[in-house]
Amino acid sequence: MKRLSILGSTGSIGQNTLDVVSQHRQKFKVVALVAGRNIALLEKQINAFNPEIVAVADKDTADALSKRIKGTEILSGTAGINHAASYENADFVISAISGAAGLIPTLAAVRAGKNIGLANKESLVMAGAIVREEALKSGSMIIPVDSEHCAVFQCLEGRRKGDVKKIILTASGGPFVDRSSAELKNITAKDALKHPNWSMGKKISIDSATLMNKGLEVIEACWLFDMPAENIDVLIHPQSIVHSMVEFKDRSCLAQMSVPDMRGPIAYALSYPEMPDGPIAGLDLDRIGSLTFRKPDLEKFPCLSYAYEAFSAGGSMPCVLNASNEVAVHAFLDGAIGFNDIHVIIRNTIDSHDIIPEPSLDDIIETDGWARKSAKKYLKELDK
Ligand code: MG
Repeated sequence: MKRLSILGSTGSIGQNTLDVVSQHRQKFKVVALVAGRNIALLEKQINAFNPEIVAVADKDTADALSKRIKGTEILSGTAGINHAASYENADFVISAISGAAGLIPTLAAVRAGKNIGLANKESLVMAGAIVREEALKSGSMIIPVDSEHCAVFQCLEGRRKGDVKKIILTASGGPFVDRSSAELKNITAKDALKHPNWSMGKKISIDSATLMNKGLEVIEACWLFDMPAENIDVLIHPQSIVHSMVEFKDRSCLAQMSVPDMRGPIAYALSYPEMPDGPIAGLDLDRIGSLTFRKPDLEKFPCLSYAYEAFSAGGSMPCVLNASNEVAVHAFLDGAIGFNDIHVIIRNTIDSHDIIPEPSLDDIIETDGWARKSAKKYLKELDK
């Protein structure tokens, strides 16, 4: 029986994780949950899974929940969330808080030596060197839950690192891959939230439409698989069946395929090193018919090239990329800026940053705050 702590239980990955758990109650037990603002759903989850502890950000919310819930300890604030992330009774942590907010809890789990199913790519984008160093120290194993990285992880199993030539991450391209730059201007948040293949949270759906999600995933792959960015390629694959590939030095290529359903990678990470039973539908390749691949258009979707640039600049720059993107995406979701303004905000912010070459965790947190402030300044300048 694996005992799980789920960080971000009310988000898309969190809900899918609980769905997998509910299908395999004899294998997994939920001992800790962490959630943000969706308290109504959290309360349902507590009643369905009876965790030992729960943590939420807000103290008043925790106090109100405590009055209604019996038998589960309700904690709050950073200390409460970190306690749930490093909870002594948990064997495995699903790190699925969205965005930069996932960094500190993920690090708490890593430092406690937990094995982690990592869906929060931002923790590696912001502080990959620190997370990797801490994981080496504590013996924490990080298993990717991101579908592309789960695919690469599977293709690499039993292979020698020296035999790998490159990693090829696939991207659906999002809903606008075939639109012209002029058409992209008038896209609304509502259009952008309609992803053709994957059902995901709002922030990642916009990142998928701008290709920033793929940019963040390139950086994530560099850290997870210890590869230079120039050995990581991206291909647009609109069917989202091949989740990624690895090319070896003999020039053969291994690909991992399945229907696009996040419960696949979640179950893989939860069950590792065993192979999970189910929980997703089988692949009808005869019905799908053809799988297509092409290079991404970096002129139309510059965010992907900004991510390569930020990673090769190194130090604190990927943190700035991530923070300015979060600010720009939220402004777009609020209707404050256009789709094509997102990359302008990021460009301006990264151009005005003085890199800290080997940032400490404090430097990262400070840089994240600086980048958000700068990005907001550039948002205001757009209005003029
Ligand atoms: Mg992904």
